[in-house]
Amino acid sequence: MEESSVVNQISPIQIGGVNVLPFESMEHVLTTIFSDDGLIKPGMAVAVNPEKVLKAIDDSETKKIINEAQFPYADGIGVVKALQQKKGKKLCRIAGCELWLEVLKRSSQFNSRVLLVGAKPEVVEKTNAYLTTNGVNVVGYMSGYFKNTQEVFDLASSVKPDIVIAALGSPKQEKLIKMLMLEYPNAFFMGVGGSFDVLTGNVNRAPKGWQKLNLEWLYRMLKEPRRIFRQAKLLKFLQLYLLKKL
Ligand code: UDP
Repeated sequence: MEESSVVNQISPIQIGGVNVLPFESMEHVLTTIFSDDGLIKPGMAVAVNPEKVLKAIDDSETKKIINEAQFPYADGIGVVKALQQKKGKKLCRIAGCELWLEVLKRSSQFNSRVLLVGAKPEVVEKTNAYLTTNGVNVVGYMSGYFKNTQEVFDLASSVKPDIVIAALGSPKQEKLIKMLMLEYPNAFFMGVGGSFDVLTGNVNRAPKGWQKLNLEWLYRMLKEPRRIFRQAKLLKFLQLYLLKKL
């Protein structure tokens, strides 16, 4: 997409046919997402992990969503390794559940108007309370279990957000964001999966030691066995990585 090459100071690298920006640190992401004057840039930040790369190989819609996103970042050690294999330098995994909080912290200096959509009612309510207490200008929030997308559009049109954080899991959140982007082309959008649950303590992140060893995926799999089937597919990613076919 032409716009993405203008707004990003770094060029994407293709992993299995999808664009990923090779970030070296969290600060590197933030300087890419925010302009020099400190304002957030319009566009969508999307997390790319091995599961999404595999999905994109067979599913053109997933591929399109990622490739049209302005800020695709590697949120999965497998994708970081594949990027490093191609780029030949050390890169950083960007945890989406940390990035969105950094983005909101920075944008609160400008009192940016934030809309939260996703998770169960009590979880999004607690998320709103936490963020508001910490100086984020949340202008509206709603659970991700709505009947009709129109409900989201109605709320958005009454609060006019600068930033929309969608926590519905993939690909639901990305599909919702694509629709909202048409209406709010100057806003920044980010899909954050289960991050509202993590923030409110509904779901625990892996202890720091596991994170440092790049084993957060294993921790999640052990905690939520339904993920075993999702992770089993990842052997395919490992195979493609080892054969340098990504
Ligand atoms: N969720 C939602 N609406 C739905 C389905 C799920 O708001 O229709 C929420 C769910 O409550 C959870 C998040 O989306 O907070 C999904 O988290 P998950 O860990 O599955 O997403 P991932 O991080 O794996 O994309």
